[in-house]
Amino acid sequence: MTHCIFCQIISGEAPADVVYRGLGVMAFRDTRPQAPTHILVIPTRHLSSIGEMQPGDVDLVGGLIATAAKIAESEGLHQGYRLVMNTGPQGGQTVDHLHVHLLGGRQMTWPPG
Ligand code: 5GP
Ligand code: ZN
Repeated sequence: MTHCIFCQIISGEAPADVVYRGLGVMAFRDTRPQAPTHILVIPTRHLSSIGEMQPGDVDLVGGLIATAAKIAESEGLHQGYRLVMNTGPQGGQTVDHLHVHLLGGRQMTWPPG
């Protein structure tokens, strides 16, 4: 059994509120939502972070962003939303399986914390 919680969600070993499954991509609701809509979009192949991206992963990461945009539409986030990719310890990454946060449903502020 893998120690990666997101790989466990992909395999069904761990539960999740799944909102989307596509070719090489999956999305589910964050268990500690930071906005009314907070969804994580992940590749179904383990890749630890943007820092580990290889040239061949460009389409994969582009696909995550395109999927996030599609989900934002289906979630009714017509006023806007924020996509975030925390990378590494100082970037605030706590799960080492690449993911895009889709946050929406409230006014976002800048700068982020
Ligand atoms: P990071 O801090 O790495 O950018 O984001 C990881 C996110 O995963 C956090 O927002 C955290 O709440 C979420 N998370 C951690 N463990 C689980 C889990 O088991 N299930 C779900 N749905 N989200 C999780
Ligand atoms: Zn993983």
